[in-house]
Amino acid sequence: MRFQHAPAAPFLKTALPGPNAAAAIARDERLMSPSYTRSYPLVAERGEGCVIEDVDGNRFLDFTAGIAVCSTGHCHPRIVAAIEEQSRKLLHMSGTDFYYRPQSDLAEHLARLAPAESGTQSDKRVFFTNSGAEAVEAAFKLARYHTKRSQMIAFFGGFHGRTMGALSLTGSKVVQRRGFAPLVPLVSHIDYPNPYRSDAASLEECGARSLEQLHKLFQRTVPPSEVAGIFVEPLQGEGGYIVPPPNFLRELQAIAQQHGILLIADEVQSGMGRTGRMFASEHFGLVPDIICVAKGIASGLPLGAIIARAEIMNWPPGSHASTFGGNPVACVAAIETIKLLEEGLITHAAEVGDYLQQKLREVAARQPLIGDVRGLGLMVGVELVRNRVTKEAASSERDAVVQACFERGLLMLGCGANTLRFCPPLVVTKEEVDVGVKIVEEAIAEVSAK
Ligand code: PLP
Repeated sequence: MRFQHAPAAPFLKTALPGPNAAAAIARDERLMSPSYTRSYPLVAERGEGCVIEDVDGNRFLDFTAGIAVCSTGHCHPRIVAAIEEQSRKLLHMSGTDFYYRPQSDLAEHLARLAPAESGTQSDKRVFFTNSGAEAVEAAFKLARYHTKRSQMIAFFGGFHGRTMGALSLTGSKVVQRRGFAPLVPLVSHIDYPNPYRSDAASLEECGARSLEQLHKLFQRTVPPSEVAGIFVEPLQGEGGYIVPPPNFLRELQAIAQQHGILLIADEVQSGMGRTGRMFASEHFGLVPDIICVAKGIASGLPLGAIIARAEIMNWPPGSHASTFGGNPVACVAAIETIKLLEEGLITHAAEVGDYLQQKLREVAARQPLIGDVRGLGLMVGVELVRNRVTKEAASSERDAVVQACFERGLLMLGCGANTLRFCPPLVVTKEEVDVGVKIVEEAIAEVSAK
């Protein structure tokens, strides 16, 4: 399948940053919160497909999609047209207090698409938010409300957002929590099974060890009858793009069900086609009780949602709402996004994602800095190590590779302590993958030579 967008060979007109970018950054630094973490001086001006042009006319191949958001490619003409048309009709009316059709149109799609036990699809309900953290926050509140229980379980390495509830579930980096205590109490964390880092003899044992930690919690500190929900990323994102063992999520859910605990899948990053299925849960046969989505749902407009069975979403009028959540313009962008995903982008993501991993494995055979290549669809991680036997994390090398890619015109991000994250727009072509992987290999070779 071929998607129409600008050819994506990087083209650098100036040294980086160029003069306009340098001026914009100086201004930004005077004005903006210092809490952001920009790794390199990209000042984006416009985007098309997998290309970002900066304020000096330099063109970059984008393997970040604005942190796994612009799945249909930057400014896909059909998304732009849908936004234009809706913005001439109605920009806002607040779904909290009024009805408008784009919200229920989108809810119908999400209810149809969310994994379900056969025969229960029509029983789904949707709540809209503006972001991933808000979706997680809504799921947190709904799980408490529905179960009338207070405790939560989440995973080390998990990232669920920055608001107080979501941050309490987040177990990713200490800098995200330092100085913000007290967080929401009664959240406990266990290890996410990490097949590459585990010394377990098999994938089954790797998963079983995490579940053993859950059993220990239940025996020692956390009465399972008091646990409302378990939050899990079906493919851990921020923590390092870690694919869990095949049976892990279903086994986790079996334990949850045994104790009347809700299984909440945070698909904010892994959902909406990124992994080659609409939801990553589908790869594992998982039917979550609540699903959180955001990021890729509306191709760049701020929108999030939770989807749950109607019997779970039993909170009464007034119990939870948001002025902007489910904005009509964001909803039509999401509906058009879903159409594009179903018309071929999901299968394309699966196919090009496999190709990307295959190419990266070829690079790994030549570059000993690469310890592991893993992922699903176009959510692919490359973990860098100083030594393949000891698996010592190559964190500063990872940062240097991201820099070296930027200097060659490829936009990359890291995740975890030492992993390169590949989350390009889902429209990325095999030719663009070839261009990007070649740059990554050059960057790795340069960093390794130092
Ligand atoms: N959940 C996951 C899995 C995420 O990856 C993120 C963001 O990276 C969030 C939640 C938070 O989303 P947002 O930044 O839109 O609040």
